Amino acid sequence: MAWGTALAQTVPTPEEILGFKVGADYHLASYEQALEYFRALEAASSRVKLFEMGKTAMGKPMIYAVITSEDNMAKLDRFKEISQKLALAKDLADEEARLLATEGRAIVWIDVGIHASECAPAQSAIQLAYELITDEDPETRLIRENTILLLVFANPDGMQMLAEWYLPNVGTPYEISSMPWLYHLYAGHDNNRDSYMNSLPETRNITRAINREWYPVILYDHHQTAPFPARIWIPPAAEPTNPNLHPLFIRGKNLVGSAMAYDFDRKGQEGAISRVVFDFIYPGYEDSFCDFFNVISIMTEIAHYRYATPHFYTVNDFPEDYRDFTIGAFYPSPWKGGWWRLKDGVEYALTASKSVLRTASIYREMFLYGKYQMGRDTIALFEGEPPYAWIIPQAQHDPTAACRLIDNLIYAGIEVYEAGESFLCDGVSHKKGTWVIPMNQPFARFVKAIFEEQNYPDLTKYPNLWQGIVRPQSLADVFLPPYDLAGWTLPYQMGVKALPANSPLDAGLVPIEKAAHPEGKVTGSAGQAYLVSSRTNNSFIAANRILQKGGRVSRIKETAKIGEQIFPAGSFVISSRDVSRSFMDSLASELNLPVLGIGTQLNAASFSLSSPKIALYRSWSASSDEGWTRWLLEQYEFTFVNIYDAEIRAGNLKDRFDALIIPSMSADAIVNGHEKGTMPPRYVGGITEAGVRNIKKFVEDGGILVALNSGCAFALEQLGLPVSDALTSLRSTRRRYGPQEEESRREPPKFACPGSILRMEFDTRHPVAYGMPEEGSGMFYRSTAFDILPTFAEKKAVAIAKYSKADVLMSGYLLGEQYLHNKTAVAEVPQGKGRVILLGFAVQNRGQTHGTFKLLFNSLFYATMH
Ligand SMILES: [Zn+2]
Repeated sequence: MAWGTALAQTVPTPEEILGFKVGADYHLASYEQALEYFRALEAASSRVKLFEMGKTAMGKPMIYAVITSEDNMAKLDRFKEISQKLALAKDLADEEARLLATEGRAIVWIDVGIHASECAPAQSAIQLAYELITDEDPETRLIRENTILLLVFANPDGMQMLAEWYLPNVGTPYEISSMPWLYHLYAGHDNNRDSYMNSLPETRNITRAINREWYPVILYDHHQTAPFPARIWIPPAAEPTNPNLHPLFIRGKNLVGSAMAYDFDRKGQEGAISRVVFDFIYPGYEDSFCDFFNVISIMTEIAHYRYATPHFYTVNDFPEDYRDFTIGAFYPSPWKGGWWRLKDGVEYALTASKSVLRTASIYREMFLYGKYQMGRDTIALFEGEPPYAWIIPQAQHDPTAACRLIDNLIYAGIEVYEAGESFLCDGVSHKKGTWVIPMNQPFARFVKAIFEEQNYPDLTKYPNLWQGIVRPQSLADVFLPPYDLAGWTLPYQMGVKALPANSPLDAGLVPIEKAAHPEGKVTGSAGQAYLVSSRTNNSFIAANRILQKGGRVSRIKETAKIGEQIFPAGSFVISSRDVSRSFMDSLASELNLPVLGIGTQLNAASFSLSSPKIALYRSWSASSDEGWTRWLLEQYEFTFVNIYDAEIRAGNLKDRFDALIIPSMSADAIVNGHEKGTMPPRYVGGITEAGVRNIKKFVEDGGILVALNSGCAFALEQLGLPVSDALTSLRSTRRRYGPQEEESRREPPKFACPGSILRMEFDTRHPVAYGMPEEGSGMFYRSTAFDILPTFAEKKAVAIAKYSKADVLMSGYLLGEQYLHNKTAVAEVPQGKGRVILLGFAVQNRGQTHGTFKLLFNSLFYATMH
């Protein structure tokens, strides 16, 4: 006791370092200040140690704190090893697993601030660390002795940006204005939807730390957008539930959530709600991705006004059905209004975090053993039933996308193999070198969840099972949309062929650490040129590198056959006069790119190519789609600049650019931007009428306007194109949450397609669809379909991609399929000397849809082909 007291005296309080109490009105600690405090803690206490898990997108160190007792701290490596053994389950006897579970500690991952504007949890982490290190009450001691907390700032760049935006605005009319840029360099609010893809540095750091180093028993991801007027949303979640989860896992979430709800009411903190709004079906979030790695993963959503500014709510602010404070099984202590301050958010976050730790400490042994049990059951499950494995042939439309898919699986902790010899499965012969993912591995449910086709359930069919979340009497014939995507089958998104093994596999398998494509090399001798197929995404990196070196690149207009190799229209021809053989050799091997050297003049009509001057529109109404597009262009090494409203209003666009990209965002945000008075003056107003005229002129003078997904509406509305939106009057207006149109007054919707993968046909002779398959898949997400209208114009609009004539739905949910049959998905619309390219579906969604990136890349190259 005396020792603990002495310790508490030497550990600095947050106030001593920050200069204010955590959660004080109008105060936010930046990431740098939080780090300063954590460094002071580390210097003062042996109960905390800091580690760096990597760098952020903007180059900051991503620091996390490990907090536990001194005794545990001395044996961290042993506890990591125990967690790993239990998680991997393989070759671990039940008896040994029980002994390890007894010996081990519950490693708990708590991350804060992934959505930086949801700022209370990140502030609370500072106070949490202090209290866990210094408090000597029995509960805190129990936590320190039984758990190892990994306390993680999930988005350091955003936490820093947010403090730097908000604090100077305090006391001005812009105190509660939104930040006019994304709080993650590329992804903004989408930064927690990258998990199964691992594109962003932060996601890569987190995945590596969780899946390959610490193997926590619980992951808790803090958010702050509670369904109003509830003060915190807690699991159990709403439906539907992902069908691939182990039941223990779902029970684990509910147990942690229910214990937390109990803790809120135990402490008299009102307004905790469960079973509404948020579901756990989509596996792209950090807190649902980790489910499949047998980490009990939860998130919560605390209530939030704006930043550190307090707000007073009266019952008149509440939605009608919350005004009489009726209680429910999952909302037993309704919040009744009053002040809500940052301090309240911080206190709710503290209760929630401590509750998770307390539950982990109480059930330490059970959760550790449960982790083993889930892994062991998963291995056994797929030893006894299909799919026994997934088979990925090396012969792929785009081998570079297949390599990316496999490397991503390996990165996430999945074991991938190569067949050492040819083998037979389900009557099909597979070559030596075929990639195989056997399913008798502990995290196999993840592979199934992202490889199989999703069949999004109609919740109204299960009113008894799912009672409490649907009102079947008012939902007749109406589907309930998911919170995020309904279909995400990753091989479809990436244009990669993958086959399930429906019978047990008998093949000699060799484990691999990295997917190297055997054809990633230069063949033939290049007296004249090098040929690179336009089917591969990486061919665009090659073309960009060579153009930027001043080399000559052209694209063939028709398919060419050279020896046994087929080069489809659009394949790149690189003059061997400008590049050395050794340069091409290293390019081919680095990019997994098959390259053919040819000794004689190629007899094929071609377009010559130069680097297009590209502008990507960036609004002060920050758009995640703009961020992802920027990320994608950087990855594929396109040179481009961002242009803002003022530059579009100023005009002369054609003098500066060949191509202008409009991201997927609303026409209103583009034209009108933020309203006057809601933002500092330089961020208000959009491109305005003047900007619209300048974009029209840009196109008429010969520029290419590339409109992405919902950005097509801007082009249709503002440029007066002879194209209409075929779905306007058919769509469902049903929302997951918030005010609904009254059911009785509303016609049932004829069409609904929440984030799903659809079958499409591509005109591969058109330069925008060069290198695409004739039939493929596309992500329909807030997307549309077009009717091309008849005109007297000389140059007609043409369809480049269409939704299929039949069997349109490949994965997810689609109501009213007939309205899509044969409708246009991608179109070229000539205007004056230029053209508008309408990419009507999400061709580069979240940087994940590798199968359709080419439509964007080709559109950009189309601008300079002659
Ligand atoms: Zn959030």
